[in-house]
Amino acid sequence: MGKIPFNKPSFTGSELKYINDSVSNQHISGDGLYTQKCSALMEQKFNAKKILLTTSCTHALELASILIDLKEGDEIIVPSYTFVSTVNAFMLRGAKPVFVDIRLDTKNIDENLIEEKITSRTKAIFPVHYAGISCDMDKINDIAKRNNLYVIEDAAQGVNAKYKNNYLGTIGTFGCYSFHETKNFMCGEGGAIIINDERFIERAEIVREKGTNRSKFFRGEIDKYTWVDIGSSYLPSDILAAFLYAQLESMDAITNTRKIIYNKYIEGFKDLEKEGRVLLPVIPENCLSNYHMFYILTEDETQRDRLINYLKKQEIVSVFHYVPLHSSPIGLNLGYSVGDLPVTEDVSKRLLRLPFYNDLTDDKQDYIISNVTAFLRGKVLSTNRLN
Ligand SMILES: *Cc1c(COP(=O)(O)O)cnc(C)c1O
Repeated sequence: MGKIPFNKPSFTGSELKYINDSVSNQHISGDGLYTQKCSALMEQKFNAKKILLTTSCTHALELASILIDLKEGDEIIVPSYTFVSTVNAFMLRGAKPVFVDIRLDTKNIDENLIEEKITSRTKAIFPVHYAGISCDMDKINDIAKRNNLYVIEDAAQGVNAKYKNNYLGTIGTFGCYSFHETKNFMCGEGGAIIINDERFIERAEIVREKGTNRSKFFRGEIDKYTWVDIGSSYLPSDILAAFLYAQLESMDAITNTRKIIYNKYIEGFKDLEKEGRVLLPVIPENCLSNYHMFYILTEDETQRDRLINYLKKQEIVSVFHYVPLHSSPIGLNLGYSVGDLPVTEDVSKRLLRLPFYNDLTDDKQDYIISNVTAFLRGKVLSTNRLN
């Protein structure tokens, strides 16, 4: 069978053609033809007011944190079960994370625990859409509105997924996408910021262009450009945008391929779940997933770690996910303790992600399912104990 990796990038076939075209156009710096094509495609498909490509989701989150004018001592409500970039982005502005526990079903921030954490210093909520499944955005937006807070969606994993009738990233004040190699649609390293509140569009362009009004200049709206604000360089090269365009054109086909793989896992494990041996992911009724990942929850940490080792011997790479940020060295330094967020800590110990990539073949998936099943039904315990 050969080793089954956890993740593998896949290509649509047009990437090199578009890169070649971008190079022939002799505009390979930021905001060239393919950058415009990518933004236009996404703005239309996602019904978004403004989408700007960035060098990463990390940078999109940083850009959003600059735009909301965070200051030393401001507080941000955020899950601890997330990637470091969600929190680094606003800590770089001097703001502090206020961690909230997650829901056991979706692994997303528990919307019912947000309000009790709001103080006079709270500036924003940063919900994270885990595995391409939306947080309860109606509730989160309602809390934000009543308390005058911004909402910055970390939709790194949520591109082309929906909450009710809206695409993720288009629901908060800002949305942030990732096109990192490990995401559904990718260009190696890349991202985008979605600006849903028109008041921020002009300044977003300026901050992304080193604090200059160069975007206006290129559109012919002013006759020279100058330094008008703080900023950084958040534009990707047009070569990367050319690569990305090939992927974005195939978004729905890619999502469909991933849906088939996801559903085969669900089907393959549903008896195990009925037997009470495993917990499977849940997609709430009002959410449309982009099938970013497939994971299971085992009984406990010991069983999860033994399963990882067992699968490794069978040449299947499976991986756990986030170590909660509140229990990291930085989190402990901020005054958090192990035990503060029980669901987050429990999920972190029991969650296991299985191989998931677009060209994962049926026979490989059958092999993964039968190995996980055999292990969880105890049929391989004796051999496993020998090691
Ligand atoms: C991947 C990811 C990021 C970071 O994305 P980059 O494009 O690599 O910066 C941030 N948040 C979450 C939830 C992610 O999954």
